[in-house]
Amino acid sequence: MKDKRSPSQLEALWKEDDMVDGEKVRAMVVIMRTNGCCWVKHGGCTMCGYREASLREVSEDDLGKQLEQALSKYKDEPFVKIYTSGSFLDDNEIPPAVRERILDAFSGCKRILFESRPEFITTESVAGLPKNVTVALGLESSNPDVLETSVHKGFTPDDIRRAGLLLKENGLGVRTYLLLKPPFMTEAMAIRDAVQSARFADEFSDEISINPLNVQRATYVERLWKRGEFRSPWIWSLVDVFRQLSGTVDSRLMSSPSGGGAMRGVHNCGKCDRDLLDAIERFSFNQDPRELDVSCGCISKWHAYMESENLLGSPADLDRDFENELTLRE
Ligand code: SF4
Ligand SMILES: [Zn+2]
Repeated sequence: MKDKRSPSQLEALWKEDDMVDGEKVRAMVVIMRTNGCCWVKHGGCTMCGYREASLREVSEDDLGKQLEQALSKYKDEPFVKIYTSGSFLDDNEIPPAVRERILDAFSGCKRILFESRPEFITTESVAGLPKNVTVALGLESSNPDVLETSVHKGFTPDDIRRAGLLLKENGLGVRTYLLLKPPFMTEAMAIRDAVQSARFADEFSDEISINPLNVQRATYVERLWKRGEFRSPWIWSLVDVFRQLSGTVDSRLMSSPSGGGAMRGVHNCGKCDRDLLDAIERFSFNQDPRELDVSCGCISKWHAYMESENLLGSPADLDRDFENELTLRE
């Protein structure tokens, strides 16, 4: 039987559109298998299913083979994104020699992006990075209480701010991820939190990517969701966040929701989901808020949903209780 979890195989690789210097270009996305995020042994974040994607014994040799596979598929795309289900700057995931090889291999592309927790972003680690690097920072929320109790992130918003400013001082790019609707929040709270967090992140970001919470398997959030105590955000909420922010921040606003339109991901009534997700994709590229002018009758249901949440003072999944539609679009 083929070993699907071989440490010398990439987890995934695909091509998609993204932006470099204000231009839409092709990007190669590489998901590497590594020893996994250092934070997982402290329980990990409440919504993160990455522990499923990481292994325990990935050697330098294995990582070298994964790099060769990526290079065999590389067709001179100007943008390369390398995800490790953790931190690219963590030596335990990507040893320095391998990191150097990867950065060298893609030194000719205009932009290379990877993610890192802020504790690995130091004066020393940043000094050696080539200038085509953008670091993606998972801020999630600028509210320290939300980060601590709702996301269990293990760092503070100020840790991210320090890392972001250090990257900017060194001439590197910053893409900041925000989480729309961490657990225990109503839709209205989630919208406010995302808007405030984006204003906080704008100081040190080139791009702000809003990630609506997608319920991943074997996570704390999945347990809440199965009990009807969590509903993934409405697409209207994401649209509202963009409308409030549009024209008021310098960073490019973007979102490419995973699981969009499914019960586990950001969703509306089912009829308008695709149109709205397409509109959000167009907005992410051109920043034109008129793209978001899509209409559907379910917007009144979204308003009613938020009013009910406020009256009940609860973020429980009211949709599910009233309509029991869990199995329809999972
Ligand atoms: S969200 Fe990021 S920091 Fe949190 S456990 Fe997952 S990989 Fe680690
Ligand atoms: Zn609708």
